[in-house]
Amino acid sequence: MKLTGLHLLLTYQCTFECDHCFVWGSPWQSGTMTAASVDHILQEGASLGTVNSIYFEGGEPFLYYATLLHGVRQAAATGFRVGIVSNAYWATSLPDARETLRPFAGLVADLSLSQDLYHDVGDVSARIANARAAAAELRIPLGTIQIAQPDEGSGDPEPASASALMYRGRATEVLASRATHHPWDTFTTCPYEDLRDPGRVHVDPLGHVHLCHGISLGNLFLTSLPELVDAYEPDRHPVAGPLLAGGPAALVTVYGVEHGERYADACHLCDEVRRRLRPRFPATLAPDQMYGVAGEAS
Ligand code: SF4
Repeated sequence: MKLTGLHLLLTYQCTFECDHCFVWGSPWQSGTMTAASVDHILQEGASLGTVNSIYFEGGEPFLYYATLLHGVRQAAATGFRVGIVSNAYWATSLPDARETLRPFAGLVADLSLSQDLYHDVGDVSARIANARAAAAELRIPLGTIQIAQPDEGSGDPEPASASALMYRGRATEVLASRATHHPWDTFTTCPYEDLRDPGRVHVDPLGHVHLCHGISLGNLFLTSLPELVDAYEPDRHPVAGPLLAGGPAALVTVYGVEHGERYADACHLCDEVRRRLRPRFPATLAPDQMYGVAGEAS
């Protein structure tokens, strides 16, 4: 495995509870990095020698502004390409957006704003516009994240460039019932993640290194990242192994897990089966936050 990117989930907390959120971001979530834990993760990333980009995301990373700014400064000073993902809740006016973003100018190579129908509540569109205008003035490169709607039932127009909606995280509870369902045994591959060589992984405030959300490679607060990477044998990993061999359907058959007959997509089946396997693999299928359970704080 060669990791080139670390995505730091700075906090599981968010101003919103979007229907499609993989990480169950919410105002009630717990788990937030400190400046010291960010420093530790960046040092671990640097010690690998292959990581070249760091993203700060969540949850909503701007909720912990001082920690975010500290992390961005440290990451940029270390020589990483730095990105941030945000819902722009902070851009209440153009002057406010300008002041919020000013310290990041020259440090951030990609500011990705979540702009889709899941985030289109209240005055969010106006805030996105303020954030975009401020970023343009400050020459902070901008990206946009758009997630498609379920394939039936919503009646809403989809953004033309929307990314596929994956039924994992909160989407399994809130959106899956609106999609076309397919037989469980047709989901014989993981369509979205390269579990053998993921390239980038997410690191959460508790130290879990996620191959996919809620599938832990290990905890980098307990074991160094180079050791975790060296020790990873994809085919022998208790969850990634079956997924590589035959997708979520193999997780069902290998472990004899109870299941329904039809699912919205591979992630929907994967998520449900993993929930049932959590008592068997508590260190791997973690933490609680990724399964919508109120979890321990950082
Ligand atoms: S099938 Fe499972 S491992 Fe693959 S992307 Fe979906 S949730 Fe993640």
